[in-house]
Amino acid sequence: MPEYKAPLRDISFVMNELLESEKLYQTLPGYEEATEDLMNAIVEEGAKFAEEVLAPLNQTGDEEGCQWSEDGVKTPTGFAEAYQQYVDNGWPALSAETEAGGQGMPNLMGIIINELAGSANWSWLMYPGLSHGAVKTIEEHGDAEQKEAYLTKLVAGTWTGTMCLTEAHCGSDLGLLRTKAEPQADGSYAINGTKIFISAGDHDMAENIVHIVLARLPDAPEGTAGISLFIVPKFNVNEDGSLGEHNGVHCASIEKKMGIHGNATCVLNFDDARGYLIGPPNKGLNCMFTFMNTARIGTAVQGLAHAEQSYQGALAYAKERLAMRSLTGPKNPDGPADPIIVHPDVRRMLLTQKALTEGSRAFLYFLSQQGDIVDAGGEEEAKRADDLMALLTPIGKAFVTEAGFEAANLGVQVYGGHGFIREWGMEQIVRDARIALLYEGTTGIQALDLLGRKVLGSGGKLLMGFTGMIDEFCEANPGAEDEPFISALKAYKDEWLEVSMKIGQAAMENPGLFRPR
Ligand SMILES: Cc1cc2nc3c(=O)[nH]c(=O)nc-3n(C[C@H](O)[C@H](O)[C@H](O)COP(=O)(O)OP(=O)(O)OC[C@H]3O[C@@H](n4cnc5c(N)ncnc54)[C@H](O)[C@@H]3O)c2cc1C
Repeated sequence: MPEYKAPLRDISFVMNELLESEKLYQTLPGYEEATEDLMNAIVEEGAKFAEEVLAPLNQTGDEEGCQWSEDGVKTPTGFAEAYQQYVDNGWPALSAETEAGGQGMPNLMGIIINELAGSANWSWLMYPGLSHGAVKTIEEHGDAEQKEAYLTKLVAGTWTGTMCLTEAHCGSDLGLLRTKAEPQADGSYAINGTKIFISAGDHDMAENIVHIVLARLPDAPEGTAGISLFIVPKFNVNEDGSLGEHNGVHCASIEKKMGIHGNATCVLNFDDARGYLIGPPNKGLNCMFTFMNTARIGTAVQGLAHAEQSYQGALAYAKERLAMRSLTGPKNPDGPADPIIVHPDVRRMLLTQKALTEGSRAFLYFLSQQGDIVDAGGEEEAKRADDLMALLTPIGKAFVTEAGFEAANLGVQVYGGHGFIREWGMEQIVRDARIALLYEGTTGIQALDLLGRKVLGSGGKLLMGFTGMIDEFCEANPGAEDEPFISALKAYKDEWLEVSMKIGQAAMENPGLFRPR
């Protein structure tokens, strides 16, 4: 298994030098505490936790997997203890709002800690990872009582969250979902139905699980206009905040799957489970977008994490493994052959992995800074950042997860036949990385969102806003040294606009070719 070493220099370069985070956060109300020193210290602590606690559980978690029994799901050895350490160190609260006990640090910090933890052990990270979306959804759409009952525990990590959308007959097309919610005399709802593929749907790491569930009210309109959103706790919560009896939600089984074996992918049966409506009736999908957008960026981080993990493994191996001689003369004359890193094809693979990793990191950190600008409020800047996020989130999710999978495949190739053998750990990265292209909306569904809703849906405004930023950047950087990069950037930007216009035109002339939603 490649030994994971947090890429502190690369992270610091993007966070401090490229994106000048301290300068930004000193201008954003609520984030003044985010100084360079504090942010560096947080990253260093996160790196230690990832390297020392999570990385050693990555391969064993893959081999052992999760175990189902009627009493609940048991996670791999060491996962629950690592989670307790994570909670004791206050990591779940890092970028949550201070009202519910959060530390109020920027989203960027949360993304960096997720990159570190996810590169060390993605399956483990998914347990606390889904709680972020649940927290954001309740913060934005929950009423005062719901915030009081659920937020503090989720923010502290005492409880974890899930996202319950998918049913056996529908994943991309949630308009088809059938789970029902019947109003009860006490103001709650009886939830009945079966959800499948629910990540972290059951486990032994926290004392309660807060499911965020899409279901239909009686007589709701068909399709997406008739979906509402509910909180369904695994254990009911008494008025004084203590835990009551087991709610009517049970894990019927866990999936046997290609990768992320350490994470429980659950079939959840809801049998008259007590649920509580969040947000307005029939507007559940709109409210769920808060969760889904957080989860999309979270999943994009998976691509970055696997690219980094695979690159580290491949680089170390390429420096050690000996095969043939360099075409420009021996580089290891005292040995029987040269290390394979001397061969141009191996360097091509390593450099492709490196470029995909570093580009993805810069892109995702930039995107999460836009989230901080939105959260800080302020008319014009927040609107501009919101527009950018709308356009770039589907690109981030689709591109970075595809990049992560490509980098993971290259990692196997650099190892030759050993890449295919389990003990080296490179094939696990490919298996674990593959799911990121599917969940939180497949790459095809991200493309529909980008072209249909964001590009065509805004009449080209969102795209032109972003390409306008690229123009401004090119004009501000005319220096001779940068010229080749600036010319290439301009050419790609022009090509992007041209291709988008062609697709838009074709879609209007022939909706069967591409159907905007
Ligand atoms: C390990 C794992 C964990 C998961 N975790 C969760 C979770 O925590 N919570 C949750 O709710 N779900 C979860 N999912 C479900 C996941 O989000 C869905 O599987 C995914 O959204 C795709 O839905 P589907 O499987 O029903 O595929 P389908 O919707 O049947 O799609 C099949 C294919 O058709 C394509 N397609 C569909 N519609 C269109 C269209 N209009 N235009 C072009 N192409 C189209 C898709 O891109 C895809 O290639 C998980 C799944 C897995 C495997």
